[in-house]
Amino acid sequence: MATHKLLLLPGDGIGLETMAEVERIIAFFNAKANAGKFEIERDDVGGTAIDKHGVPVTDAAMAKAKASTAVIFGAVGGPKWDKVPYAIRPEAGLLRLRKELDLFANLRPAICYPALADASSLKREIVEGLDILILRELTGGTYFGEPKEIVTLENGEKRAVDSTVYTTREIERIAKVAFDLARKRGNKVHSAEKRNVMKTGVLWNEVVTATHKSYAPDVQLEHILADNCAMQLIRNPKQFDVIVTDNLFGDVLSDEAAMMTGSLGMLPSASLGAPDAKTGKRLALYEPVHGSAPDIAGKGLANPIATIASFGMALRYSCDMVREADLLDKAIADVLAQGLRTGDIMQPNMRQVGTAEMGSAILKQLETVAA
Ligand code: NAD
Repeated sequence: MATHKLLLLPGDGIGLETMAEVERIIAFFNAKANAGKFEIERDDVGGTAIDKHGVPVTDAAMAKAKASTAVIFGAVGGPKWDKVPYAIRPEAGLLRLRKELDLFANLRPAICYPALADASSLKREIVEGLDILILRELTGGTYFGEPKEIVTLENGEKRAVDSTVYTTREIERIAKVAFDLARKRGNKVHSAEKRNVMKTGVLWNEVVTATHKSYAPDVQLEHILADNCAMQLIRNPKQFDVIVTDNLFGDVLSDEAAMMTGSLGMLPSASLGAPDAKTGKRLALYEPVHGSAPDIAGKGLANPIATIASFGMALRYSCDMVREADLLDKAIADVLAQGLRTGDIMQPNMRQVGTAEMGSAILKQLETVAA
């Protein structure tokens, strides 16, 4: 049986509370599941690490992260650390992890649990049962390309430049991630770019097409212009399975897709690095989209589902425990269907619960569905 090394970095604020619920789920799988076992390490990140070690992530924690199958990250930041020097602010810990693990592929699922369909701004029939994945290239493109500057012209006017830059290698590696992910889901990839007006779009289209031919002819591939993709996400989002796109379009499309499904407290994410040359395993970090929520931290009110579902993504994408990931997703859906809600997703006639009670209900339902 495979043993998976997990590094838990709860961080600050509600990260501590939501990670405690993940630990209970891990203990359940360690006791029951026969597909894999987890070895747990814990460390500090963010403000908590600044208080203890003077830096937002230590070299020792970085070494553990590099040796792990997956890092499960809570959240960092809070008013207590607003005045620390910029270089060692809490977020710098997360940025160091992303940079040194070379996490170039960002996965943001948009799942609409039937029980929450009425909370979406779209009609129930459009979003109910939605399960799509936006794959965003995270380390290249418009946010990092050079030149990137504001210059003053001779006539005193200013001129700003951002450069969108992609190489064959960068496009090929994100395309391969898209095809690998699609094989574990609905086997369909939409590649979104603007080949009609951008040279990077032309190259993106060419490289994705060539990679499909050589690497994944078994996966269905469609090309779509990024602006049309934005429209289709609202018109008929269920036509999509995996959408792969660049850094800039991915930033916008992933927020658009996520918000169809409701609260920040429900949104997991993952960031993957390059595969190891020997083992083929990718370094990976899984985290909720939300922050440390200082306004509710320490009160037992936080919704733990985004962090629990982030762990579910680790099961699926780093541990090859797809059945367990499905069971966990089902347990979450069932608990929502039973009418339990944390404050952020509260609806009329539902029962409001806190962090630990929501965690307990998911655990109990997991025991039932896994029996
Ligand atoms: P936030 O995501 O922490 O909170 C925004 C709002 O959503 C708050 O009202 C909060 O109570 C609510 N909320 C968020 N997650 C929730 C959950 N799981 N359950 C219930 N309600 C939830 O964003 P913010 O308030 O802009 O930032 C707070 C701190 O977090 C800042 O220091 C910020 O820099 C940091 N931050 C960290 C990350 C990260 O660690 N990846 C991401 C975003 C913000």
